[in-house]
Parts: sequence; structure tokens; C-alpha cells
Amino acid sequence: MKTIKRSTARIAVTLTAIVAVFASCIIGVPLMVALTKAAEASVCGPLPIGGAVPAASGPGFATWDARQVNNAAIIVSVGKQKGVPAWGYVVALGTAMQESTLLNQANDNPRWPQVVALSMALPHEAVGHDHDSVGLFQQRPNEGELGADGWGPVSELMTPSTSARKFYDRLVQVPGWEQMRLTDAAQAVQRSGTPEAYQQWEQQAKDLAAHVLALPNIDVIGGGGPAAPCGPGQFGPVPVGPGGWVQPVDKRLVVGSPYGPRDGRLHAGVDIVGANIRHQPIRAAATGTVITEMCNASTGNCDRDGGLGVIGCGWMIEIRHPGNVATRYCHMAQRPSVRKGQTVTAGTVIGVVGSSGNSSGPHLHYEVHTGIAAGAFPADPSSIDPVPFMAVQGAALTTG
Ligand SMILES: [Zn+2]
Repeated sequence: MKTIKRSTARIAVTLTAIVAVFASCIIGVPLMVALTKAAEASVCGPLPIGGAVPAASGPGFATWDARQVNNAAIIVSVGKQKGVPAWGYVVALGTAMQESTLLNQANDNPRWPQVVALSMALPHEAVGHDHDSVGLFQQRPNEGELGADGWGPVSELMTPSTSARKFYDRLVQVPGWEQMRLTDAAQAVQRSGTPEAYQQWEQQAKDLAAHVLALPNIDVIGGGGPAAPCGPGQFGPVPVGPGGWVQPVDKRLVVGSPYGPRDGRLHAGVDIVGANIRHQPIRAAATGTVITEMCNASTGNCDRDGGLGVIGCGWMIEIRHPGNVATRYCHMAQRPSVRKGQTVTAGTVIGVVGSSGNSSGPHLHYEVHTGIAAGAFPADPSSIDPVPFMAVQGAALTTG
């Protein structure tokens, strides 16, 4: 059985390499302290509100028309402008999907003629009623039965950006919302009669959030959990060097631990460190094919920080590039955003920095290997020092 043989060999190679390479991925504490001084606040620019966002369809999510996608873009954009973590975008979208199918809804309930008159006179995309609720989030207005305890005037609740702002304002007041399931966070805000109903939208909300942000996967900005601070603004394209290579992380991050012998073993790559490095994007250093995407940790769990007692690379990616060169990226915070067999171009975001596997703190362990023939995988003997290699490629790593 050819397949079984191949995968058995693969596992043996991987385990040997991992044990040898990652047993000493340690970041010096004094270095980390020094680097903290370089902390720099991220600047989160606003997304355009409205504008031409294409309709979304395809495997994995329902077809949303241009109006619905535009409303989704508004909701995500407001969340980003307010500095809400990306998980909040997913909660907000799932809520609006359940409440209004992402269509700005006027109310036709004869029990509240004032709300009907006000809402029908405003621009709307659908008509319906549940009590006196209006808009994308079906918020109940002051003019309805709730009086001054409502969410605000109908005119505000029928304005998508304003209703989204009001939703986020209440969401971030919910203690622990970032650790809640979508439906629990949504219900804490909405107090719906069917509190579990929001949950069914989680995957679609994630997919649509990624779509309007032009990200491969909302997880790369923390949409699958506690958050990246700045949303997707930092994930724009990066300049590609003349050799077709890019730095795998932001230039402000530096090589804190070099390639070479360490503690009686070969440290087969460099450890790139810096202030606020956790959840920063990791990019494919050059165009190539993903040959490995896996969780490699003796604990079997890469979704939490590892430690020096953990063996393995954590969430990791290996990419084979033209010229029999391969690169390896270790210790990601969550499952990578690309898959084995996928072709990536230089600068594609492949994951975010974390501290999974054998790691004493968030950093990127980055390796370069040469002589990797088709079907082969990186191992210690094929590794080279990434610092001179990257300099020659016109994408020098920042050192010292
Ligand atoms: Zn390392």
C-alpha cells in the first residue's frame, strides 16, 4: 500500500526533525523586555462604508445579494471603526442574519401605528413585524411600547450604520462576551424569545465577514476567538523584493535568536520576536505550494500556548518554492489560513503569530531549506541560515 508507506515515512521524518529542532525554542526574557520599548500603536483606518462590494455566493455559504452584502460590509466596517475585536463582527453579522436576513426592515404591525408610519416613510429593503422592532437588528424603538427604554428613535434604528453602532455599544458591555458562543453573546444583547437561534449562522457570519474584508479566512484576524487588535487594515499587500521574496512578518519585528548551535543542538531557523507580535500576520515568504499544514505538539493541542515542556512546532506550515527551496513557519496561534496542496503567492497571509508547541512566548520560528526535491520535506540537514539567504533575495530580515 503505497499511500500508507508514504505517510508512515512522513510521520517519522517529521517527528525526528521536530524533536531535534524545537527542543530549545526559547526567547530570552531580557530581550523581550527590551523590545517592549519598541511598542507602537497600530493605526486602524476605516473601511469604506457602502461602495461596490460584490454579492457573495459559493460553496460554504448561502447566496447573499448585493444589498445584504453591503449591509454586512457596513456592520463590519462600524465594528472596525469602533475597535471591536473581529469576533464581534461575527456576532453582529450572525445576529442580523437571524433578525432581518441582513435586510433593513420597516415595521407593518398595526398595533404600533406610529412606528409603522415612521419606518415605512424611511428607506427600507423589507417589511415585516415582530412587536415594534425595526431595522437590521430588529431593535425596539422609543416610539414603541418600550418608550424611553427602547434603543432609540426609529430614524436611527433604520439607519444601518447607527443600528450597528448601537448593537456594538451594548455587546461590549456584556462581561466576557469575547469568550461566549455567538448565540450567547447575541442573546445577552438582544434578549430574544428564541435565544439559541443565532448559533446556526456562525459559519455564514464568519464566511461573510471574511468576504467583505477580502480575507481568506476570518480566523486570521482573530474572528474565531479573542481578537486581533486592529482588524484587517494591517493585512494589505506588501512589496515583493526583486527576487520574489517578502519578509514573513512585519519589518519592525526582529531576529531575537539566530540560526546555529544552541544547547548542544542545531537551532535550524531563526526566532523572530517583538512587541505586540501575538496575532500579527505571517506571510508566505515566496510563491509556492503548501506541503504541510498541521498541529505538531506533544499535547495534541495547538489552540493554546505551549511551553518548554511541550515538544513540537505547534500550528505549522511548510511551503515548497521553485528552485527546491522550502520554508517552515512554527508556533502559530491558531489553525493556519491555508491548506496542504494550496498554491500561495509571496505575501499571502498563511496564519498569525502565537506560541503553540515548544515555545516560551509568542514568536515566529522561521526556517529556510535548500535541496528539497519534489515529494521531500524539510529536515535539519537541509536547513540554512535564513538571514543571509533572505538578504540576497532582497527581503532582508531585521536583525539587532
Ligand atoms: Zn526557534
